[in-house]
Amino acid sequence: MIGIQSAAVFCGSAAGSNPAFAAAAEALGEGLAAFGIKLVYGGGGIGLMGVVARAAHKAGGELVGVMPEFLMQREVAHIGAGELIVTPDMHTRKRRMFELADAFVILPGGLGTLDEFFEILTWRQLRLHGKAILICDVAGYAKPWVAILEAAIANGFAQASARDLFEVIDGVPALLARLAMLPKPVSQQATLL
Ligand code: AMP
Repeated sequence: MIGIQSAAVFCGSAAGSNPAFAAAAEALGEGLAAFGIKLVYGGGGIGLMGVVARAAHKAGGELVGVMPEFLMQREVAHIGAGELIVTPDMHTRKRRMFELADAFVILPGGLGTLDEFFEILTWRQLRLHGKAILICDVAGYAKPWVAILEAAIANGFAQASARDLFEVIDGVPALLARLAMLPKPVSQQATLL
């Protein structure tokens, strides 16, 4: 089996209030490097995003950041290592990250991370892709996210099969073990829109 070669990590541009979040981000960056999985990330050097990227780079991993031009200053672009792709806007950024990634990992984050998770999830619901979406639960942060989806199912706004569109995995070691089992997606071409 040919395994995945890259994974996009969606996570906070802040570090969050619990030190467990940064510890998880660091372990994820190191683990991706150890597994030879290229990190696709938002390109910023701040928050959990910066922690994952620096850890992956320090451990000898490959990484590519994708940053829209207007956020270059605000998000303290780039950690000075790996490739940086600058896009004209947010939508192009998301599309590039989607195209470059064989799978998606969600670490704790804020509104941007929620948006990225739900967008990639809805693209999968629409069968625009079949790439794995793995939420890494750290200190129970994923629970309310899952609760929103359960509420949508319970109230008849989503089908029960929506539960099969993503996986919630407790902690980074289990997440890395799951990533290592994933086959490379069949189509490398984005089929969006
Ligand atoms: P946050 O989780 O809010 O810290 O944001 C994490 C990432 O999502 C950052 O790279 C942001 O650039 C990105 N982001 C922030 N706001 C949005 C938004 N409205 N739509 C999509 N992505 C966003």
